[in-house]
Amino acid sequence: MKEKILIFGPCAVESEQQLAEIVAGKCILPDFFGQIIFRGGVWKPRTSPQTFQGIGDKALPWLKNAGQKMGYPVATEVANTQHIQACVEAGVDYCWIGARTSVNPILVQELADYWQQIPREQLPKGILVKNPMAQDVALWMGAVERLQTLGVPIWAIHRGINHKACWGMAFEFRQKKHDIPMLLDPSHISGDAQMVAQLAQQAMDLDYDGLMIEVHPHPTEALSDAKQQITMNQLQTLLNTLIVRTTNTPNKSMLELREQIDEIDDELWNLLVKRLELSRQIGKIKKENNEPILQVNRLDNIIQQRIEWGKKHQLPSGFVEQMMHLIHEQSVEEQM
Ligand code: PEP
Ligand code: MN
Repeated sequence: MKEKILIFGPCAVESEQQLAEIVAGKCILPDFFGQIIFRGGVWKPRTSPQTFQGIGDKALPWLKNAGQKMGYPVATEVANTQHIQACVEAGVDYCWIGARTSVNPILVQELADYWQQIPREQLPKGILVKNPMAQDVALWMGAVERLQTLGVPIWAIHRGINHKACWGMAFEFRQKKHDIPMLLDPSHISGDAQMVAQLAQQAMDLDYDGLMIEVHPHPTEALSDAKQQITMNQLQTLLNTLIVRTTNTPNKSMLELREQIDEIDDELWNLLVKRLELSRQIGKIKKENNEPILQVNRLDNIIQQRIEWGKKHQLPSGFVEQMMHLIHEQSVEEQM
């Protein structure tokens, strides 16, 4: 079984006392975790300036010290070059780039350039890149590529957007970048402590390489992300019940089913080709008759009809709508 990565710790370092309580609440970690890292944010990119912004540089030695007591390397979020410098001075082992930074290529490049000019032995042991606050897989991959030249391990963290998982974005990332380990951050994806365990299991079901989970000794009193942090006890329960999956060589019945799927895909694509051919013919008629290509009433009709039909076949409306838009968009392109 491929070993998994676990990153756990508070959203934000709040005090030495808070970290001491986490250290005291020690977890017994299942042996399928090959790598364990203690996290804590010290510069928090909060939406509102009226909220807790993090302790700042002063908290890095506290973080490091807590990690040492548990025997784990530590990680924090960096968003500018002063943060990197402070991490170098405090001996922070891993850094991550948050969702509000990975969205900005100029900033990511600035961080990459800064790391490029510091001595190799002072580089982080690894850099993690959260998905940007925009559903744009190319932007996320671009951020990773800007850092890959550093020669340290680069990992991706799927944290969703505004408490939506946006799974497709992470699947596409993994399909295009096999060599980058992908971790799931169930805390930020859900924004809800009750959902963390279920999402962590889904990550294992989807063969993610690891998890980043926020823990706090008293979640309801947390100064940031209070709703989503779990206690060390809850983390222990989560880890005890987590089931790791392994990919086997497909058996006969799976191979047969996959063969049928491939046949259906062939049929689907043949039908799509036929549909587009009809569209092109309609396009010619529209042109001859001096009619617009996009006819919103017609679009609305076909989508509503399909949604209604889909409901009878237990298909989610969102899925039907997206598929119809995709097919229709291509028809319009052909007609243009
Ligand atoms: C965090 O991990 O606490 C954090 C701020 O992450 P994100 O960039 O995913 O919001
Ligand atoms: Mn957080």
